[in-house]
Parts: sequence; structure tokens; C-alpha cells
Amino acid sequence: MKGLTRRQVAVWCGALAAGASARASVDADSAHALLLRTRGLADTRAYELVESLVTEVGARPAGSPNDARAVAWALARLQGLGLSNVRADPVALRTWQRGPAHARLSAPFIHPLVITALGNSVATSPDGLDAEIAYYADFDALKGEAAGSGPSRAQGRIVFIDEKTERTRDGGGYSRAMLARVAGAVEAARRGALAVAIRSIGTDQDRIAHTGAMLYDAQVARIPALAVSVPDANLIARLHARGHTLRMQFNLQANSAVAATSHNVIAEIPGTDITDEVVLIGAHLDSWDLGQGALDDGAGVGIVMAAAKLLLDAGRRPRRTVRVVLFANEENGFDGAIGYGERYKHVVHQLVGESDLGAGAVWRLRSRVRDEALPVIRAMAEVLGPIGIADAGNAAAPGPDAGVLLRRHGWPVVELTQDASNYFDVHHTDNDTLAKVDATTLPQNVAAWAVVAWLAAQSQTAFGPLLPR
Ligand code: ZN
Ligand code: ZN
Repeated sequence: MKGLTRRQVAVWCGALAAGASARASVDADSAHALLLRTRGLADTRAYELVESLVTEVGARPAGSPNDARAVAWALARLQGLGLSNVRADPVALRTWQRGPAHARLSAPFIHPLVITALGNSVATSPDGLDAEIAYYADFDALKGEAAGSGPSRAQGRIVFIDEKTERTRDGGGYSRAMLARVAGAVEAARRGALAVAIRSIGTDQDRIAHTGAMLYDAQVARIPALAVSVPDANLIARLHARGHTLRMQFNLQANSAVAATSHNVIAEIPGTDITDEVVLIGAHLDSWDLGQGALDDGAGVGIVMAAAKLLLDAGRRPRRTVRVVLFANEENGFDGAIGYGERYKHVVHQLVGESDLGAGAVWRLRSRVRDEALPVIRAMAEVLGPIGIADAGNAAAPGPDAGVLLRRHGWPVVELTQDASNYFDVHHTDNDTLAKVDATTLPQNVAAWAVVAWLAAQSQTAFGPLLPR
């Protein structure tokens, strides 16, 4: 081997020194991640925040007076935490307002039903509706009946869709069942139905009804849409199985498509040297009008705000800017996420994450990043493994607003999947109250989001883009 020239030696030593310094900074970043994990596990701020939100603001449907109070609450709280660039970006939207609704079986005997209107439902006439029920065991049974190919059982009737929601740890049972809620009215109306009623998309056996957004199609008649409590749905199924003809009477009032304004609320920890790139941790500020929006998504709001405060107080500024975003109107149209994406589409987003699956402990980490960034995800998983979070690959299905941003802008995501086994017992119901928030599982969530945000912000490797810019 030939001797090295003086210049070659200098280059070689320089490269070694640079490598050593990069390794040293990675080691220091990992040590800081461990500190964040330790401090996060003892951090009770998330519960204090969700308690404050639901006590001082309450339920907060997008565009409502309470939604405006939630925005004011978030601005004051984020400022109070000492975060920077606290602001509210306006979001134009169309809101839906619930009116009174009641229903009963009128045949084979009179029996009051516990119901709720689905979000966006049109009203019945002031006199209401009284019609025979056409029973479908699930949404596929309705869709399997070809529209427009002869008379349908649905014609002139109230379609009842008895779609069951499977209890799952990752919320997949809900994701599968919710199509009956979202698209049931369109499929029923295509077959001539007067209205649609669904078994509540929920895993409980309680006499409460679950609301949630449904959609119309401009080409198809708009028919009223409601959900029936699970015990009432079970009664309907048993009567149907006995061969009875069932009739339902109901009256449902609502105002649709009322123009309103809400806001995405934003706060930052400015980065040190890659300050124009953003690591986004988010949740949605709005909720349905039933209950208090404590689990959905007060818990997520508390978690990401607390994670940002933990980062801020831990003594080291991140290289990239860490941005908290509390999205407007996740529940009924994603206007906040869509508006955010449009406003910041030219900003490089290293990562987008969202906490919106209740208050359960995180058990899984999934990413959607460039392959080159996977070693950083592995490093996150190494820090989070000892607190019960398993690395589960690079095919994440992130929270709803983060999903909008992934699909529209190709921004990389990390999903911290919470244990959702019990979440859909109370989701979108009167029972989504502070009593259902487990204060003991929130600190682990805070620790996990702080670690993920920190290591993403420090990474030597870009996580995206996932789509061509
Ligand atoms: Zn939510
Ligand atoms: Zn929701």
C-alpha cells in the first residue's frame, strides 16, 4: 500500500473528525430523548389541560360559539406555556346545527328509541315521518341490492342498517363499520328510501346513540339520517327475526350548511439552524356537540400541548421548528387540515403526527417516511420500546388530519397508535366526558410524542418528501 500524501491524510482525518462529531451529536440527541422519556412519564400536564378545556369550554362543534371559546382558550393556554408564534389561522367552513330529534317504533308495538341525528342530516318535515322499516343485516347487504334494477325493498321505506362495530385494539373495527354511517344515506336513497337509520357505530351495550359525519351526493336525494342505540338496534333485529313488520315514527330537525368561521390554532418552538422546516404534532380542537369532547379530542389536545411544553422546558432547542397545530373541524369536513395544507404547502414538513384516538396508552409506532430515514425511526423505537411501544413498520395510517396532509402533500408521518379497545364505547356520544379519561395513561403519550418530535427535529436525514415536489 502506497503511503498517503499529506493532503490525503488531512482529508481522511477531517472526515473522521466530522463523523465523530456527527456521532457525538447523535449520541447527545439520544441521551436527550431518554431524558424526555423520563420526564414525560412523570408529566401530569396533559390531564390538567383536558380537564381545563372540558370544564371551561365544554363541547365545541366547529363554527359554534363554544368553538370560538375553544380557540380563545387554546391561544391563552399556549401563550401561557411560553410557546412562540402563537396564532389562529382563520378557516371558512359550513357548519351543521342539531335540532330536536325523537323516534319510536310504532309497529309491532309502541316503543321509544334512543336516537341521534347524524352530522349533516337534513331535517324531516315538521310533522316527521312514519314508515315501514326495511331491515338490512349490514351495509354490504344494502349495497348488494343493485340500485335501479327493479323494485327494491328500500323503496318508500326507512332503511335500517344493522352494521356491527367490532372491538379492536387499533380501532380497525370502527374504520370498517363507519362506512355505513358515512355513505348509508346515499345508498339507501339510490334505492328509493325515505330515510336511513343505522345501528350506532359503537362497541358499547349502553342505551346511548353515537353521532358522526355522514355525506350526501349531489346526484342523489337527501334523506334524513340517524343512529339508534345498540340495545334498540338489537331489539329491531330480534323483532325482524321473528317475522314482524316494523314501523318507525321519527321527527328530526337540523340546520345544514350554515356559513361560519373557525381557526387552526398554532404555536411553535423555533428551531436553531433548520428553522424553516417543521415537525408538526397535532390534535383537533373541535368536537361533536354530544358529551364534552373529552376523549375526542380533548385528550389529544392535552397530550400534544404537554409534549411541546416538555420539549421547551428540557433545556435544548430543537434544530427544526416544532409546531403544535390544533386543527379546526376535523369532525365534519377536515376544513382545518385542508386549509392548513394550502396555507403552508411550500413549507418543508419533516414530520406530521396527530393524537386522536382517545386517552389509552400508546402500544405501536408506525411511520410513513423515505427509506433513508428508517434508521431514525428505529432510534425512536429503541427509546420507546421500554415504555411499551413496538416498532410496526413503514405503512402508517395516521390520525385523520395528518392523513389529509399525507394524501394531499406527501408529508411524512409517524403514527403512535393508542389502545382503542374501549374508545368506541363512548366515541361521539353523551358519555364522552372527563370521567372516561384515564389520567394515568396520558403521561406515557406525552413522553412518546416528545421523543418522536425531538428525534425528528434533530435528524440528519430528511424524512420526505413522499410525493414529487
Ligand atoms: Zn377525533
Ligand atoms: Zn370524532
